[in-house]
Amino acid sequence: MAETIYDVAIIGGGPAGYTAAIRAGQYGLKVALIEKESKLGGTCLHWGCIPTKSLLFNAEVYDHLKHAVEYGIEGLGEGKLNWDTIQKRKQGIIDKHAKGLVFLMKKNKVTVFASHGRLSGPAKDGVHSVDVQAAPGTGEGERTSIKAKNVILATGSDAKMLPGLQADSQVLTNMEILSLKEIPKSMVVIGSGAVGVEFGSIFKSFGTEITIVEALPRLVPNEDEDVSKELARVFRKRGIESFVGAKFEKLEKTKTSVKVTITASDGKQMVKEVDKVLVAVGRAPRTGDVGLDKTKIKPDRGFITVNEWMQTQEPGVYAIGDIVAGLPQLAHVGAMCGMVVAARIAGKYARPVKRERVPACTYCEPQIGSVGLTEAAAKEKGLQVKVGKFPFTANSKASIVDSHEGFVKIVADAKYGEILGVHIIGPQATELIAEAVTAMELEATVEEMMFTIHAHPTLAEAMLDGFGSVENMAINA
Ligand SMILES: Cc1cc2nc3c(=O)[nH]c(=O)nc-3n(C[C@H](O)[C@H](O)[C@H](O)COP(=O)(O)OP(=O)(O)OC[C@H]3O[C@@H](n4cnc5c(N)ncnc54)[C@H](O)[C@@H]3O)c2cc1C
Repeated sequence: MAETIYDVAIIGGGPAGYTAAIRAGQYGLKVALIEKESKLGGTCLHWGCIPTKSLLFNAEVYDHLKHAVEYGIEGLGEGKLNWDTIQKRKQGIIDKHAKGLVFLMKKNKVTVFASHGRLSGPAKDGVHSVDVQAAPGTGEGERTSIKAKNVILATGSDAKMLPGLQADSQVLTNMEILSLKEIPKSMVVIGSGAVGVEFGSIFKSFGTEITIVEALPRLVPNEDEDVSKELARVFRKRGIESFVGAKFEKLEKTKTSVKVTITASDGKQMVKEVDKVLVAVGRAPRTGDVGLDKTKIKPDRGFITVNEWMQTQEPGVYAIGDIVAGLPQLAHVGAMCGMVVAARIAGKYARPVKRERVPACTYCEPQIGSVGLTEAAAKEKGLQVKVGKFPFTANSKASIVDSHEGFVKIVADAKYGEILGVHIIGPQATELIAEAVTAMELEATVEEMMFTIHAHPTLAEAMLDGFGSVENMAINA
């Protein structure tokens, strides 16, 4: 029988890889997807987006129930968490969606190889080879080679660890924290990016004493400064202790606790004795064992440089997702890059992913959603900006859902009203940001958004008032 030559072989079955596979299948391409774990879904489904947001839902409901009497719901008593049930529910959601991916692969005629994948050398006559080997002990066949006209690398990332530390039952990354046996009484979180503040916020709602240590001068350092300030204020109010501009010095483990030495921004040293330490200091690309040495690809600290169509230096080899240099490590970025590459390979219409149109969402309480330039970044670029800010305290739906913290901030070009950036902190910020992304993608101006009807009463009206506030014409403030 003639050897199968796939149109595209994809190494890595996370959101970047499986989305590329589905879209390529929809275009009628012959697709192979190679995933080394037993289930598709990657970090996002098993260790990232989905499990954390499942826990966040528990935290949200629990926080609401703490106010039940205020809302006129009596007889619930104090209420207490059943950690086992919370964990089972989380796993149920993951399993359901992992099964869904198996169905989607079948539906789109994608051949899945449960194996490690590695490029085995440069293409011969425009055809690449990918070594595929069943994981030891699975008995799923021998080492073999898949042939494909195009290869997409989508191997994702791993949590970084601080020098000298190793993850275990006391020092946690995003993986160990998801399988804790019980809710810790206290925890130091090192790093205040999305992963750090989300876990800090969730576990604070569950009753854990949280201390956040951030080396940079503010929480969520990639966000607009006003957002960082608001988050710090609300976290303080919630009893989350934060040290910014602070340095983690060392930790010492006892049988039952961890003593963490921190130098605060004023130079004072302190020791925090806690149950657990979460290290959330970023993610390193997983590109060490995919055969890059056999290609023209020269990774930069593991990250792969691509052009606007996600093409690497090696013809016919693309990179998408967390391994790409210069793009945010987010599931929706990887997924969209996957759709772009599939379209290019199929010779269909595609638009490049633009960094400034990528929404960033942080699912802590209060939530953060942002897109485009911060006020400071726009000014640094020498742009003349107009800024509008509308507080959720003045939005009627925010009163109804009892969530008043935060604001919508719009950064716009002063002359033409181009929307340069939108920064939301507050209720449903991670949903509201979609409107801003659409507006920016379609190049709407502030004025056009001011005449776009928003239903009443909704949190989305805060967007309308936000756009109005750029011209000092918010209706409700
Ligand atoms: C705690 C946490 C919360 C997060 N929350 C969000 C969120 O809410 N929203 C969001 O957008 N992003 C979130 N992220 C980021 C998101 O998870 C990643 O950006 C996303 O998973 C990256 O997708 P990917 O496909 O590039 O890589 P991954 O999801 O890491 O998938 C890569 C896959 O490739 C496989 N693989 C690796 N090497 C090989 C090989 N050689 N052969 C075969 N298979 C291989 C891996 O097993 C893995 O399944 C979160 C991350 C963390 C850690």
